[in-house]
Amino acid sequence: MTDFIDLKLSKPILRAITEEGYKTPSPIQAGTIPSLLEGEDVLGIAQTGTGKTAAFALPLLHKLAEAQHKAISKQPLAVILAPTRELANQIGENIQDYARYVPLRTKVVFGGTSIRPQIQALFRGIHILVATPGRLLDIMNQGHCDLSKVETFILDEADRMLDMGFIHDIRKISAAIPKKRQTVLFSATMPASVKGFADGLLRDPVTVEVAPQATTAEKVEQQLMYVDQGDKRALLDHLFKDPAMEKVIIFTRTKHRADRVTRNLIQAGVTAAAIHGNKAQNARQRALKAFANGETRALVATDVAARGIDVDGITHVINFELPNEADSYIHRIGRTARANATGIAIAFCCEEERAYLKDIEKIIRQSIPMVDDHPYHAADVANATSKPVRPVQGGRGGGGGRGGAKGGGGRNSGGKRHTNQRPKGSGQGGKPHAGGGNNASGAENAGGAGKPKKNKWRKKSAGNAGGGKPRSGGRPGGRSGGAVQGGNRNRNSGNS
Ligand code: AMP
Repeated sequence: MTDFIDLKLSKPILRAITEEGYKTPSPIQAGTIPSLLEGEDVLGIAQTGTGKTAAFALPLLHKLAEAQHKAISKQPLAVILAPTRELANQIGENIQDYARYVPLRTKVVFGGTSIRPQIQALFRGIHILVATPGRLLDIMNQGHCDLSKVETFILDEADRMLDMGFIHDIRKISAAIPKKRQTVLFSATMPASVKGFADGLLRDPVTVEVAPQATTAEKVEQQLMYVDQGDKRALLDHLFKDPAMEKVIIFTRTKHRADRVTRNLIQAGVTAAAIHGNKAQNARQRALKAFANGETRALVATDVAARGIDVDGITHVINFELPNEADSYIHRIGRTARANATGIAIAFCCEEERAYLKDIEKIIRQSIPMVDDHPYHAADVANATSKPVRPVQGGRGGGGGRGGAKGGGGRNSGGKRHTNQRPKGSGQGGKPHAGGGNNASGAENAGGAGKPKKNKWRKKSAGNAGGGKPRSGGRPGGRSGGAVQGGNRNRNSGNS
């Protein structure tokens, strides 16, 4: 499949995507759009940046436009759920772009902002409702939205929605939608919890998987800087002396730390803004806009707030604190490798974060190359041979070991190169952790829904973005045959 025309999308939609500059379908689009147009349930495993939004939005628009249903008061025909306001907004904007030549109405609803205009739009009638789960339930509970006419139910970034505790809200929303419907679930990762959840929601889905987790990582130049926790801010200021750091997103684990890092950057003369869950919606939008326009050089974000950010031209991603969930590392660094761009991702790692680093290197199946020619290189951390100790969860990230906690010396402040003593298996560009499959660290299965059910899923090949390697192995008894190969697309699905 090399052209959008082959996908049989209607002319007004083709016209809109041509104007968007899309020339050929991305692998996730080529892999899912035909099944979606046929009305099948689809499970898409794809990260942001793969074109997944258009993958579910284009066939939805096509079908709704063909059906020519009028919008009915309070009764949308399609519901798209997303974990965060930013992602919901992003989806809404993309849909507006793709739907510019079809007479369909879309509304985005999310919390933290006035509910009244959202209710009014629903009252006037819309075709497509994009929502975060909590706000949609509120609106439903107040009697302003009835999902009994919904024909298509789409869940985007399902893994993140489960992580954020939306499972009960989603179940309630799902129960309010007729059983006879098309259900589409996209997720960046497929831990057992998400697989079990998808299994309960989808009927005989076609599974399409692209961009195995390592692929995004491969497009980004990754660097690892060992640094004491107390030196991180100084290292950050030091890095900002490089004018190549033009558009930089900095990740922290906590909102509090995001604010502190932002204040420090501003003090150091770097234009910066923070975005996290404690910020009002309009403050978040303002910060995002200023960052996208290039008015601010640095955006400091927590993982949740950063989901769905689609800003072009991010030159660097700095992991000021490593995430305690290895998957988040991939989401984070993917911010700088959107579409075909490449970028640099720098990970700061202090003593307390060595366990997180280990999890991350396992999931990306490579060792992150260390850079030690900076003035804050923590040689003792780099050369540590002791087993990394996992910090107690839930506290302020990075532990309390600031400054002198590790007892004097050891820091090489002259920028002298140290022997790079990497963890075992740090082969050059190889796959030292082959066979890891998508088995991160057990943590990702927390709250899992028990063993995955027997595999009744079909699997399609979606080609492979960026020539990435197919995921090796897979779970025994899990999805058929591992990798993304040889989908038996003709098997009778028996549904709609
Ligand atoms: P997404 O994965 O949906 O967040 O999309 C990532 C970016 O890729 C967005 O900026 C889209 O506008 C863009 N995009 C989606 N599909 C295509 C395509 N077929 N060709 C070029 N760009 C695309």
